[in-house]
Amino acid sequence: MQPFTAAQLLDVWETGRGRTPLACGVLLLTLAFPEIEAASLPFGRFNARLLRLHEQLFGAALESTVSCPQCAEQIEFTVNVADLGIHDDAALPAVIHLEDDALTLRLPTVGDVLAAGGDADQLFGRIVTAGSATHASPAVQTIAADQLQALDPLISIVFRISCPACGHEWETPLDVAAFVGREVDHWAQRLLHTVHRLASAYGWSERDILAMSAWRRAYYLELVDA
Ligand SMILES: [Zn+2]
Repeated sequence: MQPFTAAQLLDVWETGRGRTPLACGVLLLTLAFPEIEAASLPFGRFNARLLRLHEQLFGAALESTVSCPQCAEQIEFTVNVADLGIHDDAALPAVIHLEDDALTLRLPTVGDVLAAGGDADQLFGRIVTAGSATHASPAVQTIAADQLQALDPLISIVFRISCPACGHEWETPLDVAAFVGREVDHWAQRLLHTVHRLASAYGWSERDILAMSAWRRAYYLELVDA
């Protein structure tokens, strides 16, 4: 991962405002891993890199709150990045063959998911490299999804939640790009607030305040509050 400054991350956050979480994720990975073309990453590998970036910036704990669909209880849960089993160094196959080779698919990239805009049929059509997507039955599409998930396990991350209030159990997905995007958003808002307070107290420029270490900014902020 390429080292980057608070000012650079803040620029990426600003550029991403108004874009979808996935598009923001591509911007973030382009900053952190300039040697790769983020939109071409297989989707699970994209999630893996975003999780590594989260670990680097905010720590390994992913803290989230869900509402119980049965009784509306707010449940806080924490998942550790290490528990998600990120193995993103093994080579992935270029294609997989289904239906006795009548259908050949490749792994979906972030670019595919972005272009399909949430339309599963369109996404499936994009990843079929040989054979006909339109003739693939729903059963074949399910088999394809299972095989792709087995190859690139972070394509879809799902947690089993049990409500402590009513006992209801259900599965909830983790949208990695949306999650990391929210964390970056909170970080940026806290940082801008700090810049505002230090600039007001000392008359320093935004550039000078952003160039300081986070530790030094926090120390000056304590002195302003003292
Ligand atoms: Zn409940």
